[in-house]
Amino acid sequence: MSDIIHLLTDSVANQIAAGEVIQRPASVLKELVENAIDAGATLIQILIKDAGRTLIQVVDNGKGMSETDARMAFERHATSKIKSADDLFSIRTMGFRGEALASIAAVAQVEMRTRRTEDELGVVVEIAGTRVFKQESVQCDTGTSFQVKNLFFNVPARRRFLKSDNVEKSHIFTEFYRVALVNSNITFSLFDGDEEIFQLPASNIKVRIENIFGKNAKKRWQQQLLSIETSTNLVNLVGYVGKPEYSQKSGSQYFFVNGRYMRHPYFHKAVLLAYNQMIQASESPNYFIFLEVDPQTIDINIHPTKTEIKFENEQAIWSILSSAVKEALGKFNVVPSIDFDQEGSIDIPIEVSAENVRPPQSNFNPSYNPFGTTSYKRPVFDWEDLYGEFEKKVIPIESSPTWQPTFDSTEISSDSMSGQQEIDMLESRAENFQYKNRYIITGIKSGLLMIDQKRAHTRILFDLFLSQIQNSKGMSQQVLFPEMLELSDEDSLFFEHIIPDLRNTGFEFEAMEKNTFSVKGISSLVSASSVIDLLLEMIENAKTTASDPANSLQESISLSLAKSTALKSGQRLTNEEMSDLIDRLYACTNHNFTPDGKLIMTIIGQDEIEKRF
Ligand code: ADP
Ligand code: MG
Repeated sequence: MSDIIHLLTDSVANQIAAGEVIQRPASVLKELVENAIDAGATLIQILIKDAGRTLIQVVDNGKGMSETDARMAFERHATSKIKSADDLFSIRTMGFRGEALASIAAVAQVEMRTRRTEDELGVVVEIAGTRVFKQESVQCDTGTSFQVKNLFFNVPARRRFLKSDNVEKSHIFTEFYRVALVNSNITFSLFDGDEEIFQLPASNIKVRIENIFGKNAKKRWQQQLLSIETSTNLVNLVGYVGKPEYSQKSGSQYFFVNGRYMRHPYFHKAVLLAYNQMIQASESPNYFIFLEVDPQTIDINIHPTKTEIKFENEQAIWSILSSAVKEALGKFNVVPSIDFDQEGSIDIPIEVSAENVRPPQSNFNPSYNPFGTTSYKRPVFDWEDLYGEFEKKVIPIESSPTWQPTFDSTEISSDSMSGQQEIDMLESRAENFQYKNRYIITGIKSGLLMIDQKRAHTRILFDLFLSQIQNSKGMSQQVLFPEMLELSDEDSLFFEHIIPDLRNTGFEFEAMEKNTFSVKGISSLVSASSVIDLLLEMIENAKTTASDPANSLQESISLSLAKSTALKSGQRLTNEEMSDLIDRLYACTNHNFTPDGKLIMTIIGQDEIEKRF
């Protein structure tokens, strides 16, 4: 039998290789734009037609190519960017594999025009399916212009594999954002047919972010970005992170290293950690973080499409990153916990007669130790009706994690306050104002704080019920005429599952005949009228929670109890009641969001207010 192994022709080999590099129109755009950046362009113009299926054109004003290079550029493994394997460890360019142009030319019809400044004439090369159809001198601008037509014209299976125009366009925009964000010093334009999608002048990073994402909502982006900056000998870090309240289900999250976009799930966690407790679990913050490291300490060769990058000092960078983000959030007072003061409030002139003036006397308790185990008891006003025994709950300053701002205050800044100072500030706060019997408005240092009273109370009660469940501390009120809870077989199974937790909050049940329970006592915080409905709701929740391990049953019970018990919107509050509600809210683990993720408070910034006058 004759030998059967032979070498593939270039065109077949290139087509196979192309499969890895060029998956869709967006990959062509990425490769061409990256080449333009590597060529030192300051202006890059992009035009796509039919979501890139029929045309992707990229025109740059970069350094161009000589006649020979223009032809060489389309060979496989032809690159001007590295020479030896050692160079792989000092890469500063976007490309280095020498695969892109060969791959594109294998699966599309390409026309390239290029000229260097020093050459009088440029050169045009036409190549399709790896076959060169034309190479000749031509008059053209300095720089390089690529037209990539009819992508996958010779690979029908690939063409069919492409998604709808909208999906392909969104891939194109994704690639565009990645390069445009990290190259804000380059002017970009992007046209979809005749429609101008982006016109991005060279600018700083912040303006670039706004120009890309703030197209229809510039203000939101201007308000939400907090800058981060850290310089260490392992990494230099700059960028912006979004304020927690602007977090979304899928935020805009970008990491770049040495001018290259990267995905880094581990570093992503570092950022999330800094937002711990400030956003709900299902949301993520926006961030744009640019790392500069010694190229020797990363391996960008790890993946063919090059978005995952391995770092030598991953752990150290993880910590630096997390604390840089924390610092940004703290510095800009995103957490208003330590923010109350009297600044800007009206001074009430008091007449003081000279005889009454006495030298100031210090009045302190020498045995007071703010870090000791003493308990702080908040002033109680007319809250008994609303809280039952809640005010008996005391908050030990030193040990209560709930009293701290949502992240460790020692990391915020050196002038952060002690627990006692915070309490002083809270208590000397200016008047509160209730708007529409629904929102509490109060002045703080950085502006006006608005709190949704119902949501605030839901958070407070949730924390309280949860702690009762965990510590069996709930008080019971006996029911004079016990109601009967009649359940199906399935429901009574789930009910029995939640009975121990409910007992801890003060509920008492007695099992009657099959699947029937008498409700003999209820939590002293809950109103008796709606108790059967409430129990049925908790059973329903228990069913869904059972299949959802991320959601704890105890939390679900606490939330149902809190929601049914919380203040309603429309309930009038006295000034003291409002102060007390705010104090209690600030003692919660997370005072920004309800347990089911609704925003509790928002700040109208001082600058925002001043702008209006
Ligand atoms: P790589 O970018 O990995 O080197 P490519 O196949 O993308 O490989 O490009 C091959 C070579 O063609 C590049 O190394 C570069 O020298 C040249 N080249 C490609 N695009 C341009 C451009 N827009 N301007 C100048 N030179 C270019
Ligand atoms: Mg390239």
